Amino acid sequence: MSRIVYVNGAYLPEEEATVSIFDRGFLMADGVYEVTSVLGGKLIDFEGHVARLARSLAELDMAQPISHQELLAAHRELVARNEIDEGLVYLQVTRGNPGDRDFAFPDPETTPGTVVMFTQSKPGLANSPAAAAGIKVISIPDLRWHRRDIKTVQLLYPSMGKMAALAAGAGDAWLVEDGMVTEGTSNNAYIVKGHKIITRELSADILHGITRAAVLRYAAEAQMVVEERSFSIEEAQGADEAFVTSATTFVMPVVEIDGASVGAGTPGPVAGRLREIYLEESLKAAI
Ligand code: PLP
Repeated sequence: MSRIVYVNGAYLPEEEATVSIFDRGFLMADGVYEVTSVLGGKLIDFEGHVARLARSLAELDMAQPISHQELLAAHRELVARNEIDEGLVYLQVTRGNPGDRDFAFPDPETTPGTVVMFTQSKPGLANSPAAAAGIKVISIPDLRWHRRDIKTVQLLYPSMGKMAALAAGAGDAWLVEDGMVTEGTSNNAYIVKGHKIITRELSADILHGITRAAVLRYAAEAQMVVEERSFSIEEAQGADEAFVTSATTFVMPVVEIDGASVGAGTPGPVAGRLREIYLEESLKAAI
């Protein structure tokens, strides 16, 4: 069965889905995206992702080309049509196709945004072997632009970081700016010291992770102490535990940073407990 994808209101087999070569997403990386995970056929944290999409669009002066209700209906339709049990829905909105290339933004009245959505099936997402083993990370300089709070499709540098990590035998790279970790290539970064969970405070330096917000809320509800501040690679290497969070990896333990074991070099109890709580609570709230 060929995958059914969504393009500007139409549901099409992936082979028949097209966007223009003049689309500003293609020519200028002028677009934003969201990734919502699917567990048991249901959407995890959908409301958070839609709220962040609205914010990303507003920050870039882009019109919202599709309503909340239409977004939810399309997500559900794609999950159903593609029989997704565990996996994700990818959503991208670009500034559309003005019919030519120009640095100036087109008039949104005459150039509507392009909306595409597709699913990816990922059986075993929740019971991931990587989560049981933990991942290794390397550090690299953070050379991205300075509006990382906007979830744009400008993902070349994070892709280069991921390639550098894979070449070094690691699972991901942590980005470092002014001596401090900002975040992972596609996740938020945390360390645990004693009873404290430490993660960088929100600003334009990092993406405001939807999973981050949920995990910090669940941590506080479980009487865990959360400190929102920057930390260095050296502090992380000396921490008791480290982990990352994202919509598709949930809470993922980090067991090695730049070749140095973190804690015992195995996934720690705090990350393990947070992963359990996150999966349990977000499954309960899934729609
Ligand atoms: N930071 C970056 C740079 C990301 O790309 C992502 C997710 O793609 C995250 C953090 C985690 O965000 P979320 O929990 O909303 O998936």
